[in-house]
Amino acid sequence: MPAGTLHIKRRKSIPVKVGSVTIGGDAPIVVQSMTNTDTADIEGTVGQVAALARAGSEIVRITVDRAESAAAVPHIRDRLAAMGVEVPLVGDFHYVGHKLLAEYPDCAEALAKYRINPGNVGFRENRDSRYSAMIETALKYDRPVRIGVNWGSLDQQKLSQMMDENAKAAQPRDLAEITREALVASAVESAARAEELGMKRDQIVLSCKVSDVQSLVDVYKDLATHGDYALHLGLTEAGMGSKGIVASTAALAVILQEGIGDTIRVSLTPEPGGDRTREVIVAQEILQTMGFRSFVPLVTSCPGCGRTTSTVFQELADSIQTHVRARMPKWRELYPGVETMNLAVMGCIVNGPGESKHADIGISLPGIGEDPVAPVYVDGAKTVTLRGPKIAEEFQEIVENYVKNRYGTANS
Ligand code: SF4
Repeated sequence: MPAGTLHIKRRKSIPVKVGSVTIGGDAPIVVQSMTNTDTADIEGTVGQVAALARAGSEIVRITVDRAESAAAVPHIRDRLAAMGVEVPLVGDFHYVGHKLLAEYPDCAEALAKYRINPGNVGFRENRDSRYSAMIETALKYDRPVRIGVNWGSLDQQKLSQMMDENAKAAQPRDLAEITREALVASAVESAARAEELGMKRDQIVLSCKVSDVQSLVDVYKDLATHGDYALHLGLTEAGMGSKGIVASTAALAVILQEGIGDTIRVSLTPEPGGDRTREVIVAQEILQTMGFRSFVPLVTSCPGCGRTTSTVFQELADSIQTHVRARMPKWRELYPGVETMNLAVMGCIVNGPGESKHADIGISLPGIGEDPVAPVYVDGAKTVTLRGPKIAEEFQEIVENYVKNRYGTANS
């Protein structure tokens, strides 16, 4: 069925290999996530990394904050490999990264990339030696780095220096503008230092994260003009629930639409006891609804209104989306291309048949005053009318058969 065409020209960046995954160049925009377990808890971290990877996270970052965490990293990598989970692990280092990487060579070797925050490496005379030590370890193990600046931990020396210069200017600019510039300068100058130490551009990913949507857009538009580094995109500390999802989507959509961004992470605060994999699903849905990539068939459904007779249509929309997500691990193997399929579940005849015709398979449930029947459209044509209490099961079966017939190969 016709879908929107992607007219976006992506910014050219140098591809960076992170284990088996490529960030940048012509590679698809990569979805990544981060654990919130104590990395020293091997079992808990393995379980969460596996869950994130199975949900579709193509790279997973873990905190490496102390000796116990660094010692756990190779075991985590090995346990995941034994489970058949081959996702590249990124180590997130702050303050003591230089020490941990030097003292735990198995950790340095087990990680596929190191995330270095130039604002948290050290102060004054320590800063360059610690930063250089981390870059040298990355060179020794042939690992790429992400130079990840965050406005919550911006290099204060850099900011003060830029503010002093600004104060002397004929027309001083406001603090917000100087802060944004300092973020970009910190990332770009740290990248230049890494290159002086021997890193190549295909070993460096940059990010400059802030928690304000408009500031993030400004920062990335600026960062994108400073060389062809691969860029990691994310709104930091996005928040909880719908606020976190909306703020991340608003920011990332505008920047991605500019062609900027080679990998994304959605930094949601989970509800207490909530599912960490939510951030992966949101990241996938941002990329898929914008037309960059397809991960799982999506269901279009109407919001319902006074014409909706019951909750049947909401339950059907929910059950079919859950069903296709649960079937994807198997479908992905057997039915290449199935992730591009579109489904529609509509509440009545007003927009039901029209929307159903735009989907690969659509169903329109009866609204108030309509015959208690549900016409099904396949590839734009009405094929069958369902009725009775088994509509959900019968619709699911129609979807299963469609997938098999349309995406099946001789081997499936
Ligand atoms: S399709 Fe029907 S039930 Fe759904 S929102 Fe439109 S009018 Fe309401």
